[in-house]
Amino acid sequence: MNIFNMTFPALEDYFTERGENKAKAKIVYNHIYRQVGELSENVNKMLKADFDFGNVEILKTSSCLDAVKFLFGLEDDSTVEAVLMRHDYGNALCVSTQVGCNMDCAFCQSGVNKKTRGLHSFEMVLQLLKAEESTGEKISRVTLMGIGEPLDNFDNVMDFISIIGHKHGLALAPRHITISTCGLPKLDELYNISCNLAISLHAPNNSIRSRLMPVNKVYDVERIINFTREYSKVKNKKITLEYVMLAGINDSDECAYELVVLIRGINCYVNLIPYNETSLDFKRSSSDRIKSFYSILIQSGIRATVRREFGGELKAACGQLSSERAQCADKERT
Ligand code: SF4
Repeated sequence: MNIFNMTFPALEDYFTERGENKAKAKIVYNHIYRQVGELSENVNKMLKADFDFGNVEILKTSSCLDAVKFLFGLEDDSTVEAVLMRHDYGNALCVSTQVGCNMDCAFCQSGVNKKTRGLHSFEMVLQLLKAEESTGEKISRVTLMGIGEPLDNFDNVMDFISIIGHKHGLALAPRHITISTCGLPKLDELYNISCNLAISLHAPNNSIRSRLMPVNKVYDVERIINFTREYSKVKNKKITLEYVMLAGINDSDECAYELVVLIRGINCYVNLIPYNETSLDFKRSSSDRIKSFYSILIQSGIRATVRREFGGELKAACGQLSSERAQCADKERT
């Protein structure tokens, strides 16, 4: 067992099953996540006997002014990446949830390597703790937008959110945690949690979306939009619709008007993402094209933003993360 895999209730059960007071779970959480208080000799002994504490190692960091990219090595020798972004309002960490990804989005470098497995919760928790330790900076927000589709690793992702959100641990508020998904049947289970939700739409119709995202054959534009309308109403929450701007594919004025009709009246906003070019065969829309698309949305009463870019030169931006160990050929260790 890894201690960072333990949700608070699971840790309470661990102590109860051994005839100990379950209040020890609070002491342990405070100690490992807040460096508050000391562990008794007895608890220390129990934890050392029953738990691992590590198994995620920073293999490489690359930084620029507003971002730091981490390459993490996992115990089975696979690797994932995470990116710390420095906003005016605090630091956010974009966390990976799987080794590789099976969703096969045509424009995404992260999905070039097929999924080999979902990350354990502790491997997500340790991305956060190691990033804080390495930079000495507090992380106040988490987005699950790194390598992998979070809903394809549902149970471990839910445990991760429970662990980092617990009041005796890191206490990240649900409004500071964002799940980003391309849309899978598991979407319906998100009614039970309170995090922010970002859905990768990327197209105003099925013909373009199917070309970009094979998942559209299972969860198509109508299902996404119906879900978004219903979910935002029931949860009284604004949903983010992600829309990557791909030159000549989904960035025309016609696409913008089609999008307006599609989402009018839904409590959502559109996050336009200037594409970060990779070795894949897609080009970024020009600034003028993005401006024109954005203006059509705004003038039609649709809330929209153009995403601020972080870490482009680090190949740390959306869709550029990779789990290739080869990129760490120089084995530069921190
Ligand atoms: S965009 Fe997200 S879901 Fe699609 S292939 Fe990339 S990592 Fe997977």
